[in-house]
Amino acid sequence: MLGAKVNHDDWFYSRLKRTEYLSSSEIEEMQNEQLRRMIKHCYDAVPFYRKSFGEHSIRPHQVRCREDLERLPVITREDVVENHRYFISKKIPKDGIMTRYTGGTTGKPMKMMITGRERMIDNARITKQCAMAGMSMQDGQFHVGPNTGNMPWRYDRKNNAVLFSPLHFDDRNIGTFTGLLKSYGFRFMRGFPSLIYLLADHCRENGISDIRLDAVITKSEQLLPHWRKTIEDAFGCRVFDQYAQVEMVASAMECGSHSGMHVEPSFGIIETDKHNELIATSLVNYAMPLLRYRTGDIGKVAKNRCSCGRCSGRLVEFQGRKCDMIITKNGKPVNFSPVMSRIQRHQNIRECRFVQEDKGSLRVDLVIRKHESLKSIKRSLNSLFDGEIELYFNVVSSIQREGKGKSRFIISKIQS
Ligand SMILES: [Zn+2]
Repeated sequence: MLGAKVNHDDWFYSRLKRTEYLSSSEIEEMQNEQLRRMIKHCYDAVPFYRKSFGEHSIRPHQVRCREDLERLPVITREDVVENHRYFISKKIPKDGIMTRYTGGTTGKPMKMMITGRERMIDNARITKQCAMAGMSMQDGQFHVGPNTGNMPWRYDRKNNAVLFSPLHFDDRNIGTFTGLLKSYGFRFMRGFPSLIYLLADHCRENGISDIRLDAVITKSEQLLPHWRKTIEDAFGCRVFDQYAQVEMVASAMECGSHSGMHVEPSFGIIETDKHNELIATSLVNYAMPLLRYRTGDIGKVAKNRCSCGRCSGRLVEFQGRKCDMIITKNGKPVNFSPVMSRIQRHQNIRECRFVQEDKGSLRVDLVIRKHESLKSIKRSLNSLFDGEIELYFNVVSSIQREGKGKSRFIISKIQS
C-alpha cells in the first residue's frame, strides 16, 4: 500500500467528501475498520509498538474498536522524542522520507517523519476543510504565518497565495500588508489568529473599512473570543477555526453553524482524559504512527448532531495548549487561564506576553494603545494574585516571536 503509485490527494479527498455526512453508526464502523488496519500496521512494522504490545500482553486482534483503545498505554511527547527512531515504520522507503517539525510552543520542536503519502493526505484534508468555509484553494488566498525566509511577504505563484511572514509583523509592515490585502483583492484568508487579529486591529485603528473577505480560517493557535470578533468586524465575514497538528493524530474544522469544530473521522480518533486533555490516535499517519498520543491540547468532544447535518463529534470549549502554571512565592502552582480572561477585558492591550523567571514574580510585556491606561491594567491583574505574585510591567513596541512565529502567552523559565 505504501509504495503504490496513486494520486493520494484525489483518493483521500474523495473519501473525505464521500464520508462527510455519514451517520454516527457509519462513522463508527469506518473508524473501527481503519483502526484495525492501523493497529496491525503498528504491530507488524513499527518497533516501538511491537515491543510495547509485548510488554502489555496485547495482541493486535484484541484492539478492534474505539473502546479497545483503552488497552493501550497513553504515550507522551517525551516518549516519542526518546524513542524517535523506533516510531518510524520499517516499511517506509528510505528515499521517500521527509521531516517536519512541531511548532515548539512548549519545549523543543519535535521531529516527525512523513512520506509523500502523508503529505498528500494532509493536503487533501486542508482542501476539504477550506471547502467547509466556502473556500477553494484555486481562488487565491492570503496565508498569514508561513515561513517566507527573510522577506516580510511574497507571492506564491504555485498556490496563488500571498504569504505574510509571522516574524515581520511590526507597525511598518502591517501597513504594507493591509495595502496588499487591497491590491490583491483575494476573498479568503487563513493563518495564525494572533496575527490576523493584528491586521484587523490595524484596519479598525486606521478607519480602513473597504477590505471585505468571504471567510477567514484560523489555525495553529487558540482563537481568543475578542480576536474572533475584531476579525469578523474588520473584514465583514465569519471566522472558521481549525485544529490540526504536525503529528497528524487528529483534525477538526468549524462548520457554518459555528458551534464547535467537527472532528474529521477518517483522520484520527480523539479521547479526553479527566482533565479534558485530548488524547488522539492517528488513522492516517503510516510513516510514524502515534497511538493514544497526549496532545497537550485542552477541549471536549460534543457528540450530539450538529444543525449543519454532520454527525461527526465536535470539539468544543477548545483552549489550545495546556497552560503552563505560574508559581507563587510559596511554590504553589496557579492556573494561567484566569489571567487570559482578565486580559481580554482590556481593549487597550494589543499584545501581551508573561515571562516567569523566578517563583513569585512575573514580567508582563505589553503592547498597549494608550500609555495612560496602564494603571487600570496593573490594578486589574494585581487583584488576581493578592500579593502572592509580584507583577513587573514592561511596555514594549512589539513582541518578538519565536520558532515558527506562533504566539506564546506565557514563558516559564522555572525548572520543575
Ligand atoms: Zn456542523
